[in-house]
Amino acid sequence: MAKTSFSKSGGGWNSGPKSNIVKTWGIYGSKNAGTDKGSEPFKLSRTKIDMFLECQLCFYLDRKLGIARPSMPNFTLNIAVDHLLKKEFDIHRAAAKAHPMMEKYGLDMVPFAHQNMEQWRENFVGVQHLHPETNFLVFGAVDDIWQSPDGSLAIVDYKATSKDGEIELEDTRWHNQYRRQMEIYQWLVRNNGFSVSDVGYFVYVNGKKDRAAFDGKLEFDVKIIPYEGKSDWIDDVLVRIKKCLDSDDVPARSPLCEHCEYRLEARKAYEKHVKKQKE
Ligand code: SF4
Repeated sequence: MAKTSFSKSGGGWNSGPKSNIVKTWGIYGSKNAGTDKGSEPFKLSRTKIDMFLECQLCFYLDRKLGIARPSMPNFTLNIAVDHLLKKEFDIHRAAAKAHPMMEKYGLDMVPFAHQNMEQWRENFVGVQHLHPETNFLVFGAVDDIWQSPDGSLAIVDYKATSKDGEIELEDTRWHNQYRRQMEIYQWLVRNNGFSVSDVGYFVYVNGKKDRAAFDGKLEFDVKIIPYEGKSDWIDDVLVRIKKCLDSDDVPARSPLCEHCEYRLEARKAYEKHVKKQKE
C-alpha cells in the first residue's frame, strides 16, 4: 500500500492510485495566447463562458491554472437523440422543404442549407467569432439553423429529457443555461454577417414513461418551444472574463455549489483525525 505523509495506516489524503485529474489544454497565457503580449487569439467556448458565470473559481482553475473539473459520464441517450434529429432535419434540408413539425407549429421556414453547416455543427470548431476587444476566439457548435423566406435565420437547439407533464421553459438553473446557450449562438451567427432573428427554437423531445412495457423502444413527444433571446450581456461578460484571466487574484468560489465546501470540510475532518492520532 502506498505511504502517506499523514497517516500511520498508509491510507489517507496523499495515498491511493495515481491521480487521474485532467490537465486542460490551451490554457490562458500559454504561448501568450489572448494576453497583451501575444497576437494569438485565445479560444473560448460557449461552455467555458457559462462556467465563468456559474463559478469564477472553477473557470480560473480550468482556463488559467489548467485543472479541469472531474469528468462526467456522457449523456449517450441524449447524444443519440441529437444525432437522429440532425439526420431527420438533414433530409428536409437536402430537399429544401419544411419538416412536418415546422408546418404543425405554423413556422414558414426550412432547414438552412449552407456549405459551412457541417463545420458549424462540429464540436470544438463550431461557429467562431474573434472578439476584438478581448482577442478571444469565441466558438460554439449549433444543432441546427432554420431559414425564413426573407432570408433571416433562426437558431435551433435540440433537447431531450424524460419527465411527467408538458415541457415548458422554466426558471431553473438548467433552463437558464439553455437560454444563454441560445443567446451565444445567436450572437455568434450574427457576428458572422447573417441576419438572425431574436427568436430561436428548442426542439424538445420528452421520453414517455407511461407505456405498459419497454418493448425495445422508447417513444417521445416532440415539442417546439420558441424563445426570444437577448445577446446584449455577452460583450460585457467577455470583458469581465478577460479581467479575471489577467488578474493574479484567485476569484471566490460559487456559493451555489456544494463540492468545494465538501472538499474543505473533508480535508479539515481528515487533518483533525490525523492530529488526534498523533497525540
Ligand atoms: S465551488 Fe464548485 S464550481 Fe466552484 S470551484 Fe468549487 S467545485 Fe468548482
